[in-house]
Amino acid sequence: MKALPPGSTIGVLGGGQLGRMMALAAARLGYRVHVFCPDWDSPAEQVSAAATVAAYDDAAALDAFAASVDAVTLEFENVPVAAVERLARTVPVRPGARVLSVAQDRMAEKTTARDLGIPVAPFEAVTSDTDLADAIASIGAPSVLKTRREGYDGKGQRIIRKASDADAAFADLGRAPAILEAFVEFTSEISVIAARGEDGETRTYAAVENRHKDHILDLTIAPAAVASAAIKQAEEAARALADALQVVGLLAVEFFVTPEDGVLFNEMAPRPHNSGHWTIEACRVSQFEQQVRATAGLPLGPTGYHHRAVMRNLIGTDADRWADLADGDGTLHLYGKAESRPGRKMGHVTRLYAPDRPNWPPKEAELP
Ligand code: AMP
Repeated sequence: MKALPPGSTIGVLGGGQLGRMMALAAARLGYRVHVFCPDWDSPAEQVSAAATVAAYDDAAALDAFAASVDAVTLEFENVPVAAVERLARTVPVRPGARVLSVAQDRMAEKTTARDLGIPVAPFEAVTSDTDLADAIASIGAPSVLKTRREGYDGKGQRIIRKASDADAAFADLGRAPAILEAFVEFTSEISVIAARGEDGETRTYAAVENRHKDHILDLTIAPAAVASAAIKQAEEAARALADALQVVGLLAVEFFVTPEDGVLFNEMAPRPHNSGHWTIEACRVSQFEQQVRATAGLPLGPTGYHHRAVMRNLIGTDADRWADLADGDGTLHLYGKAESRPGRKMGHVTRLYAPDRPNWPPKEAELP
């Protein structure tokens, strides 16, 4: 595909904050954004040139959307694969259906990683009581039972502390198709965002450390202060996955760091990621611009950082302090969500630090 000229329209599936920040990056490059999402007044719609508010299985709405845009990307990975396939008949969709179908299913993503030789904690598919008993027999406890689809921020998963808890955990998850995986005694969690262009060129942003609170990302520390062997392994794994799945756009990959300084693949998403928000301030080309570039057929930009950074999410009522936060040492981002509910991502703050700073990560008092 020839690069889309400024003034072209990029369609975005999904209307959340990732779409909002992508639309802002697209606007800076002279593109118009048309959002497709089931809800009115979504964070992305508020900053976009056009919106279609319809269900993802509304064929007529999808066809009209396809006719009104020059390329399509997504900010939400649970868009039905059938919707992407329908759009792809008439307009380029990046990333495509293949990576989407893998990333929507924990079993498929872990199998893909394992088949590429990327280390993964032991896991087994669970669709019945017999499977569950077999999986507990082979993996044991402690372990984690996770629904194969639509889990996020700790939703759709239960820790099994002893084998006798397994039946109740499966019932609690509505007996939905699941995977049982070994509990990992990790030392930290890191992620790597890979960007891959239409020509197959792949670049990675620095690996970052992610710290969670109540199962929701709280802090991202960029770069991660972990052993270089772990970082190298994570970067290579993210590249290998992006290549194998022929991603055009971004692939965000999460890992556990083990006490031996190795990494275990946890999960991936073919879209901008919360752990990449720091790139807006700390890199010349952010993850959002990178996704726009790949979608529009532009060359990828540099992924290096000119500052270190820490990003803190504003969850629920955290964002009520917006006036103080706007006056602080960080850069404030608010997502335009009218109602703050517990656990809802309302915004974030990023603070920059000198790139050659000796003490890393910063002490509590210096965090955003
Ligand atoms: P996930 O939705 O798979 O990213 O899981 C959410 C969080 O639960 C992870 O970021 C970890 O903190 C924790 N977690 C998930 N899987 C495991 C595991 N196998 N062992 C230990 N902790 C886990």
